[in-house]
Amino acid sequence: MTRWVIKCTQCGLERELDVGFDLSSLRYSVYLYCPRCRVNTTHRVLGYHDPYTGQYVQVNQTETSVEGVSEFD
Ligand SMILES: [Zn+2]
Repeated sequence: MTRWVIKCTQCGLERELDVGFDLSSLRYSVYLYCPRCRVNTTHRVLGYHDPYTGQYVQVNQTETSVEGVSEFD
């Protein structure tokens, strides 16, 4: 399991997501429920906690363009 740090693109809420798959394969965007918006929204991946070193790793923000996110609407 990897702890990803994600941010809602609608309200800006940041939170952590524990998943067993690599979000980089989704171009660092994921469509899921936001507890603040109370609807499913696009979330941008800000980074992740490396399961081996425990260090926080920031993802390349150039790969998280809004244009890339729109494909998942
Ligand atoms: Zn939200």
